[in-house]
Amino acid sequence: MSVRALPPSPEVSPTSLSQLQDAFQRKVTYLRISVTDRCDFRCIYCMNDDMRFLRRAQILSLEEITWIGQAFIELGVNKIRITGGEPLVRQNIVSLLENLGQLPGLKNLALTTNGSQLKRFAPALRDAGVKHLNISLDSLKPERFQRLTRLGQLEQVLEGVRAAKQAGFEGVKLNAVILRQRNHDEVLDLLAFALAEQLDISFIEEMPLGWMSDRDREQSYYSSQQILQDLQQKYHLLPTTEQSGGPARYYRLADYPETRVGFISPHSHNFCDTCNRVRLTAEGRLLLCLGQEHSVDLRQVVRTHPGDMQYLKQTIMTAMTLKPKGHDFADSQQPSLLRYMNMTGG
Ligand code: SAM
Ligand code: SF4
Repeated sequence: MSVRALPPSPEVSPTSLSQLQDAFQRKVTYLRISVTDRCDFRCIYCMNDDMRFLRRAQILSLEEITWIGQAFIELGVNKIRITGGEPLVRQNIVSLLENLGQLPGLKNLALTTNGSQLKRFAPALRDAGVKHLNISLDSLKPERFQRLTRLGQLEQVLEGVRAAKQAGFEGVKLNAVILRQRNHDEVLDLLAFALAEQLDISFIEEMPLGWMSDRDREQSYYSSQQILQDLQQKYHLLPTTEQSGGPARYYRLADYPETRVGFISPHSHNFCDTCNRVRLTAEGRLLLCLGQEHSVDLRQVVRTHPGDMQYLKQTIMTAMTLKPKGHDFADSQQPSLLRYMNMTGG
């Protein structure tokens, strides 16, 4: 694993510190922050059943996360998504969101959640400045939902979805990871649910992050193309050129103006050319690509140089040169990375 603490680059001038750009001229404007690797679910595509979690001292404090977030915003990042693990199990998560939400320059504060705690948290998240919420929902069948998440209760998540709708976010989107023989037969029902609730929905191909002991990922791969074909048996989906600042390709349905249908297809439709994002793991590794190990240890930077914003910003600038051209997922469902999605910040 290549975790490096880079020295600041001497040739980075203060004027060039206003916009992050990598070696392939891609501008980086989007930071995803994993605030914990812990979760109250154990989804079968995300975690193995014998996961070990980080100790408290290993993960960034909320103050350190805010400090790093501020550095990125000063470097031109305008969107931050808080994720995990399950972000709503991190203590004092609302205060972190309040602090980030007040930083000048941040246009979009978003959060991805499994929805289990949303009934309690939705209004506070909205008040803290969260604009967009993604809620994971892979099945509408209670027993199947429990099998897929190992610990989740469907009704609790559906209550969370309802609470999110009431809280008045600018956008609420459902995310469904689709696996052959596990939930691929539910894509029509999931879309019908999104249409009835007037929510966006994205269907996601499974990514081979981490080793799964109970399953061969090759066999459960179900492509976006197959999902689209299944949906078109009942609905007329029209491709659009809309972007949400992420890797999804969107479709719309003539009679349902409130709902966009997205496809996130790391295998079948490589989106690296337009990648505008980097990730901060719960332990403070700045990951330059979801599907590669290039990273820089920002925890070491903030702990050895507390309060030194210039040093932090210069380290981040220099780190951009490590951003690789693309990921390696395309050809195989075998995990090339031993890092699980909950560690990565999906
Ligand atoms: N716990 C929150 C949740 O489930 O929404 C946030 C973290 S989770 C890691 C973020 C997203 O990654 C979820 O939508 C989840 O379905 C997705 N995800 C997890 N493992 C994945 C994998 N191996 N392939 C594709 N998507 C995955
Ligand atoms: Fe938890 Fe989200 Fe991973 Fe499921 S996908 S185990 S909810 S972190």
